[in-house]
Amino acid sequence: MSKLPRIGVSSCLLGDEVRFDGGHKRDPFITDVVARYFELVAVCPEMAIGLGVPRPTIQLRLKGDETRLVPGKDPDSMDLTDSMREFAAKVAEREEALCGYIVKKGSPSCGMERVPVVINDQGYRSRDGVGIYTGELRARRPLLPIEEEGRLHDPGLRENFFERACALQRWRELPDPERNVQGFIDFHARHKLMLMARGAHFYQELGRVVAGVRAADLIERRESYIHRFMEVMTIRANKARNVNVLQHVMGFFKEVLSPEDKQELLDLFEAYRAKRVPLGTPLTLLRHHLRHHPNDWLARQFFLEPYPIELSPYTIH
Ligand code: SF4
Repeated sequence: MSKLPRIGVSSCLLGDEVRFDGGHKRDPFITDVVARYFELVAVCPEMAIGLGVPRPTIQLRLKGDETRLVPGKDPDSMDLTDSMREFAAKVAEREEALCGYIVKKGSPSCGMERVPVVINDQGYRSRDGVGIYTGELRARRPLLPIEEEGRLHDPGLRENFFERACALQRWRELPDPERNVQGFIDFHARHKLMLMARGAHFYQELGRVVAGVRAADLIERRESYIHRFMEVMTIRANKARNVNVLQHVMGFFKEVLSPEDKQELLDLFEAYRAKRVPLGTPLTLLRHHLRHHPNDWLARQFFLEPYPIELSPYTIH
Protein backbone atom coordinates (compact mmCIF):
# COMPACT_ATOMS: atom_id res chain seq x y z
CA MET A 1 0.00 0.00 0.00
CA SER A 2 1.40 3.41 -0.92
CA LYS A 3 2.11 5.84 1.90
CA LEU A 4 -0.33 8.67 2.42
CA PRO A 5 0.85 12.19 1.68
CA ARG A 6 1.80 14.12 4.83
CA ILE A 7 0.10 17.26 6.07
CA GLY A 8 1.23 19.18 9.15
CA VAL A 9 -1.51 20.14 11.63
CA SER A 10 -1.57 22.22 14.81
CA SER A 11 -1.91 19.49 17.48
CA CYS A 12 -4.83 21.10 19.30
CA LEU A 13 -6.94 20.73 16.11
CA LEU A 14 -6.52 16.97 16.40
CA GLY A 15 -7.94 16.94 19.92
CA ASP A 16 -4.60 16.91 21.74
CA GLU A 17 -4.95 18.71 25.07
CA VAL A 18 -2.05 21.05 24.50
CA ARG A 19 -3.63 24.48 24.75
CA PHE A 20 -2.54 26.88 27.48
CA ASP A 21 -5.56 25.85 29.59
CA GLY A 22 -5.21 22.11 28.97
CA GLY A 23 -8.02 22.14 26.40
CA HIS A 24 -8.08 21.38 22.68
CA LYS A 25 -9.84 22.64 19.55
CA ARG A 26 -10.58 19.37 17.79
CA ASP A 27 -11.85 19.94 14.28
CA PRO A 28 -13.93 16.94 13.12
CA PHE A 29 -13.40 17.67 9.42
CA ILE A 30 -9.65 17.27 9.94
CA THR A 31 -9.78 14.29 12.30
CA ASP A 32 -12.55 12.38 10.52
CA VAL A 33 -12.20 13.29 6.83
CA VAL A 34 -8.77 14.77 6.06
CA ALA A 35 -7.20 11.95 8.11
CA ARG A 36 -8.50 9.36 5.62
CA TYR A 37 -6.42 10.82 2.79
CA PHE A 38 -3.37 12.30 4.51
CA GLU A 39 -1.03 11.30 7.25
CA LEU A 40 -1.46 14.08 9.80
CA VAL A 41 1.75 15.26 11.40
CA ALA A 42 0.79 16.86 14.73
CA VAL A 43 2.92 19.75 15.94
CA CYS A 44 2.37 21.97 18.96
CA PRO A 45 5.17 24.49 18.75
CA GLU A 46 4.53 25.91 22.22
CA MET A 47 4.87 22.48 23.81
CA ALA A 48 7.89 21.82 21.62
CA ILE A 49 9.80 24.82 22.95
CA GLY A 50 9.21 23.67 26.49
CA LEU A 51 6.07 25.49 27.57
CA GLY A 52 3.99 23.07 29.61
CA VAL A 53 0.29 22.58 30.20
CA PRO A 54 -1.29 24.54 31.75
CA ARG A 55 0.84 27.57 30.95
CA PRO A 56 0.49 31.34 31.13
CA THR A 57 -0.84 32.89 27.94
CA ILE A 58 1.56 34.40 25.45
CA GLN A 59 0.98 37.14 22.90
CA LEU A 60 2.47 38.99 19.97
CA ARG A 61 3.72 42.38 21.04
CA LEU A 62 5.30 45.19 19.08
CA LYS A 63 8.72 46.05 20.53
CA GLY A 64 10.50 48.76 18.61
CA ASP A 65 10.03 47.78 14.97
CA GLU A 66 9.69 44.08 15.65
CA THR A 67 6.83 41.82 16.58
CA ARG A 68 7.93 39.56 19.41
CA LEU A 69 6.41 36.56 21.14
CA VAL A 70 6.22 37.31 24.87
CA PRO A 71 4.19 36.40 27.98
CA GLY A 72 0.76 38.03 28.21
CA LYS A 73 1.51 39.11 31.78
CA ASP A 74 4.86 40.73 32.45
CA PRO A 75 5.88 40.90 28.78
CA ASP A 76 9.45 41.99 29.58
CA SER A 77 10.18 38.91 31.66
CA MET A 78 10.87 36.60 28.73
CA ASP A 79 11.12 36.58 24.92
CA LEU A 80 10.22 33.37 23.11
CA THR A 81 10.61 34.65 19.56
CA ASP A 82 14.02 33.21 18.78
CA SER A 83 13.36 29.76 20.22
CA MET A 84 10.07 29.60 18.33
CA ARG A 85 11.83 30.56 15.07
CA GLU A 86 14.54 27.98 15.69
CA PHE A 87 11.93 25.30 16.22
CA ALA A 88 10.10 26.29 13.01
CA ALA A 89 13.43 26.08 11.14
CA LYS A 90 13.95 22.53 12.46
CA VAL A 91 10.46 21.47 11.37
CA ALA A 92 10.98 23.02 7.92
CA GLU A 93 14.13 20.93 7.53
CA ARG A 94 12.89 17.73 9.17
CA GLU A 95 9.47 17.61 7.51
CA GLU A 96 10.56 18.19 3.95
CA ALA A 97 7.88 15.81 2.66
CA LEU A 98 4.91 17.84 3.88
CA CYS A 99 2.59 18.85 1.06
CA GLY A 100 0.37 21.11 3.17
CA TYR A 101 -0.17 22.50 6.63
CA ILE A 102 -3.33 23.33 8.58
CA VAL A 103 -2.82 25.79 11.41
CA LYS A 104 -4.95 27.10 14.27
CA LYS A 105 -6.27 30.56 13.60
CA GLY A 106 -5.61 33.45 15.95
CA SER A 107 -2.71 31.80 17.80
CA PRO A 108 0.41 33.95 18.41
CA SER A 109 2.44 30.88 17.44
CA CYS A 110 0.33 29.07 14.81
CA GLY A 111 -1.97 31.77 13.34
CA MET A 112 -1.54 32.48 9.63
CA GLU A 113 -3.02 35.97 9.45
CA ARG A 114 -4.97 38.57 11.42
CA VAL A 115 -3.37 37.55 14.72
CA PRO A 116 -3.74 40.29 17.36
CA VAL A 117 -0.57 42.23 18.13
CA VAL A 118 -0.40 44.37 21.29
CA ILE A 119 1.07 47.64 20.16
CA ASN A 120 1.22 49.71 23.36
CA ASP A 121 0.99 49.49 27.15
CA GLN A 122 -2.67 50.40 27.09
CA GLY A 123 -3.23 47.03 25.45
CA TYR A 124 -4.29 48.45 22.08
CA ARG A 125 -4.16 45.69 19.45
CA SER A 126 -3.72 45.66 15.72
CA ARG A 127 -4.92 42.57 13.87
CA ASP A 128 -2.26 42.21 11.24
CA GLY A 129 0.03 39.72 12.98
CA VAL A 130 1.25 36.32 11.83
CA GLY A 131 2.06 33.60 14.36
CA ILE A 132 5.83 33.40 14.84
CA TYR A 133 6.03 29.67 14.10
CA THR A 134 3.91 29.83 10.95
CA GLY A 135 5.62 33.00 9.71
CA GLU A 136 9.03 31.33 9.96
CA LEU A 137 7.80 28.10 8.41
CA ARG A 138 6.34 30.02 5.48
CA ALA A 139 9.57 31.97 4.97
CA ARG A 140 11.55 28.72 4.85
CA ARG A 141 9.04 26.68 2.84
CA PRO A 142 7.42 29.19 0.45
CA LEU A 143 5.88 26.47 -1.74
CA LEU A 144 4.05 24.80 1.13
CA PRO A 145 0.28 25.42 1.05
CA ILE A 146 -0.72 26.66 4.50
CA GLU A 147 -4.30 27.26 5.57
CA GLU A 148 -6.21 27.92 8.79
CA GLU A 149 -8.82 25.46 10.01
CA GLY A 150 -11.55 28.12 10.06
CA ARG A 151 -10.89 29.14 6.46
CA LEU A 152 -11.23 25.53 5.33
CA HIS A 153 -14.96 25.90 5.95
CA ASP A 154 -15.08 28.37 3.05
CA PRO A 155 -15.76 26.17 -0.02
CA GLY A 156 -13.48 28.07 -2.40
CA LEU A 157 -10.58 28.22 0.05
CA ARG A 158 -10.93 24.54 0.88
CA GLU A 159 -10.93 23.53 -2.79
CA ASN A 160 -7.92 25.70 -3.44
CA PHE A 161 -5.96 24.33 -0.48
CA PHE A 162 -6.47 20.68 -1.45
CA GLU A 163 -5.84 21.43 -5.13
CA ARG A 164 -2.48 22.92 -4.18
CA ALA A 165 -1.55 20.25 -1.62
CA CYS A 166 -2.36 17.40 -4.03
CA ALA A 167 -0.54 19.09 -6.91
CA LEU A 168 2.57 19.58 -4.77
CA GLN A 169 2.40 15.93 -3.72
CA ARG A 170 2.19 14.84 -7.39
CA TRP A 171 5.25 16.96 -8.12
CA ARG A 172 7.11 15.30 -5.26
CA GLU A 173 6.14 11.86 -6.43
CA LEU A 174 7.68 12.23 -9.88
CA PRO A 175 10.23 9.41 -10.05
CA ASP A 176 13.89 10.26 -10.52
CA PRO A 177 13.06 13.98 -10.68
CA GLU A 178 16.50 15.31 -11.52
CA ARG A 179 16.76 13.21 -14.70
CA ASN A 180 13.14 12.68 -15.62
CA VAL A 181 12.65 15.12 -18.48
CA GLN A 182 9.52 13.36 -19.72
CA GLY A 183 7.99 13.32 -16.22
CA PHE A 184 8.44 17.10 -16.05
CA ILE A 185 6.82 17.61 -19.45
CA ASP A 186 3.94 15.28 -18.50
CA PHE A 187 3.35 17.08 -15.22
CA HIS A 188 2.78 20.32 -17.10
CA ALA A 189 0.61 18.65 -19.74
CA ARG A 190 -1.58 16.90 -17.16
CA HIS A 191 -2.28 20.18 -15.37
CA LYS A 192 -3.22 21.96 -18.57
CA LEU A 193 -6.92 22.28 -17.78
CA MET A 194 -6.30 23.24 -14.15
CA LEU A 195 -3.98 26.02 -15.31
CA MET A 196 -6.42 27.09 -18.04
CA ALA A 197 -9.09 27.46 -15.35
CA ARG A 198 -6.85 30.12 -13.82
CA GLY A 199 -6.06 31.76 -17.15
CA ALA A 200 -4.83 30.41 -20.50
CA HIS A 201 -1.84 32.76 -20.31
CA PHE A 202 -0.57 30.91 -17.21
CA TYR A 203 -0.51 27.64 -19.12
CA GLN A 204 1.42 29.36 -21.92
CA GLU A 205 3.79 31.11 -19.54
CA LEU A 206 4.65 27.87 -17.74
CA GLY A 207 4.80 26.10 -21.10
CA ARG A 208 7.70 28.38 -22.04
CA VAL A 209 9.62 27.10 -19.00
CA VAL A 210 9.02 23.52 -20.10
CA ALA A 211 9.59 24.02 -23.84
CA GLY A 212 12.84 22.59 -25.12
CA VAL A 213 13.94 21.30 -21.72
CA ARG A 214 16.97 19.01 -21.81
CA ALA A 215 18.63 16.84 -19.19
CA ALA A 216 21.34 19.49 -18.85
CA ASP A 217 19.01 22.25 -17.71
CA LEU A 218 16.27 20.15 -16.10
CA ILE A 219 17.14 20.99 -12.49
CA GLU A 220 17.19 24.73 -13.13
CA ARG A 221 13.94 24.65 -15.11
CA ARG A 222 12.21 22.51 -12.50
CA GLU A 223 13.06 25.08 -9.83
CA SER A 224 11.62 28.01 -11.78
CA TYR A 225 8.63 25.98 -12.89
CA ILE A 226 7.44 24.76 -9.52
CA HIS A 227 7.79 28.17 -7.87
CA ARG A 228 5.65 29.83 -10.52
CA PHE A 229 3.27 26.87 -10.75
CA MET A 230 2.48 26.94 -7.01
CA GLU A 231 2.09 30.72 -7.17
CA VAL A 232 -0.42 30.39 -10.02
CA MET A 233 -2.26 27.64 -8.16
CA THR A 234 -3.03 30.04 -5.30
CA ILE A 235 -5.32 31.86 -7.76
CA ARG A 236 -8.83 30.57 -7.34
CA ALA A 237 -10.40 29.53 -10.63
CA ASN A 238 -13.49 31.64 -11.23
CA LYS A 239 -16.81 30.38 -12.53
CA ALA A 240 -16.51 31.89 -15.99
CA ARG A 241 -13.13 30.25 -16.59
CA ASN A 242 -14.27 26.95 -15.14
CA VAL A 243 -17.28 26.99 -17.48
CA ASN A 244 -14.95 27.64 -20.43
CA VAL A 245 -12.89 24.63 -19.43
CA LEU A 246 -16.01 22.49 -18.90
CA GLN A 247 -17.17 23.43 -22.40
CA HIS A 248 -13.75 22.56 -23.75
CA VAL A 249 -13.99 19.12 -22.09
CA MET A 250 -17.49 18.62 -23.50
CA GLY A 251 -16.00 19.23 -26.94
CA PHE A 252 -14.19 15.89 -26.63
CA PHE A 253 -17.58 14.16 -26.68
CA LYS A 254 -19.24 16.16 -29.42
CA GLU A 255 -19.27 13.26 -31.88
CA VAL A 256 -20.51 10.66 -29.43
CA LEU A 257 -23.13 12.27 -27.22
CA SER A 258 -26.79 12.50 -28.12
CA PRO A 259 -28.39 15.98 -28.32
CA GLU A 260 -30.16 15.17 -25.01
CA ASP A 261 -26.87 14.29 -23.29
CA LYS A 262 -25.29 17.49 -24.59
CA GLN A 263 -28.23 19.53 -23.38
CA GLU A 264 -28.02 17.89 -19.97
CA LEU A 265 -24.37 18.94 -19.71
CA LEU A 266 -25.10 22.48 -20.86
CA ASP A 267 -27.89 22.73 -18.29
CA LEU A 268 -25.50 21.63 -15.56
CA PHE A 269 -22.87 24.13 -16.69
CA GLU A 270 -25.51 26.83 -16.46
CA ALA A 271 -26.63 25.59 -13.02
CA TYR A 272 -23.00 25.75 -11.90
CA ARG A 273 -22.62 29.25 -13.33
CA ALA A 274 -25.78 30.29 -11.46
CA LYS A 275 -24.42 28.76 -8.22
CA ARG A 276 -27.20 26.18 -8.02
CA VAL A 277 -24.76 23.24 -8.08
CA PRO A 278 -21.05 22.93 -7.23
CA LEU A 279 -18.36 22.31 -9.81
CA GLY A 280 -18.29 18.66 -8.72
CA THR A 281 -21.71 18.06 -10.28
CA PRO A 282 -20.83 18.73 -13.96
CA LEU A 283 -17.44 17.09 -13.35
CA THR A 284 -19.17 13.91 -12.16
CA LEU A 285 -21.25 13.75 -15.32
CA LEU A 286 -18.20 14.42 -17.49
CA ARG A 287 -16.33 11.61 -15.74
CA HIS A 288 -19.32 9.35 -16.40
CA HIS A 289 -19.17 10.17 -20.14
CA LEU A 290 -15.42 9.65 -20.09
CA ARG A 291 -15.88 6.13 -18.72
CA HIS A 292 -18.21 5.32 -21.60
CA HIS A 293 -16.17 7.14 -24.26
CA PRO A 294 -12.54 6.77 -23.13
CA ASN A 295 -10.01 9.39 -24.09
CA ASP A 296 -6.47 8.96 -22.81
CA TRP A 297 -5.51 12.62 -22.87
CA LEU A 298 -8.62 13.69 -20.98
CA ALA A 299 -8.40 10.84 -18.49
CA ARG A 300 -4.96 12.12 -17.48
CA GLN A 301 -6.14 15.67 -16.77
CA PHE A 302 -6.23 16.40 -13.04
CA PHE A 303 -8.93 19.01 -13.60
CA LEU A 304 -11.50 16.20 -13.66
CA GLU A 305 -10.54 15.05 -10.16
CA PRO A 306 -8.02 17.42 -8.57
CA TYR A 307 -8.24 15.87 -5.10
CA PRO A 308 -10.22 13.06 -3.43
CA ILE A 309 -13.91 13.85 -3.82
CA GLU A 310 -14.60 13.28 -0.11
CA LEU A 311 -12.59 16.39 0.70
CA SER A 312 -14.92 18.52 -1.37
CA PRO A 313 -16.81 21.17 0.57
CA TYR A 314 -19.96 19.84 -1.06
CA THR A 315 -19.65 16.22 0.07
CA ILE A 316 -22.07 15.40 2.87
CA HIS A 317 -20.36 13.46 5.66
S1 SF4 B 1 -2.48 26.82 18.49
FE1 SF4 B 1 -0.49 25.90 18.10
S2 SF4 B 1 0.75 26.43 19.87
FE2 SF4 B 1 -1.38 26.76 20.44
S3 SF4 B 1 -2.03 24.86 21.39
FE3 SF4 B 1 -2.57 24.72 19.23
S4 SF4 B 1 -0.82 23.70 18.32
FE4 SF4 B 1 -0.14 24.43 20.31
